[in-house]
Amino acid sequence: MIRILFLALLAFIAWQLLRRWFAQQRSGPQAPPPGFSAEPEALVRCERCGIRIPASQVAAVRANCRQCGDGQQGG
Ligand SMILES: [Zn+2]
Repeated sequence: MIRILFLALLAFIAWQLLRRWFAQQRSGPQAPPPGFSAEPEALVRCERCGIRIPASQVAAVRANCRQCGDGQQGG
C-alpha cells in the first residue's frame, strides 16, 4: 500500500515538473524582449515630403521637417 502511495507521489511530482517545463518552453523563445515590438509599426505617409514615418514618431519628425513646418512654403 505504501508503495502505491509513493508511486502516486512520484507521478504527481513528475507531472508538476513537466508542466513547468512546458510553460518555460512556451514563454521562452517566443516572448520578445522588453521594449521590442515584434509587429512592425504602422507607417504614416507625409503629405508634403512624401516620406514614411512610424506612427509614434510622426510629431517628432514633422517638428524637424522643413517642408512640414508651419509658415514655410516654397523654396
Ligand atoms: Zn514632411
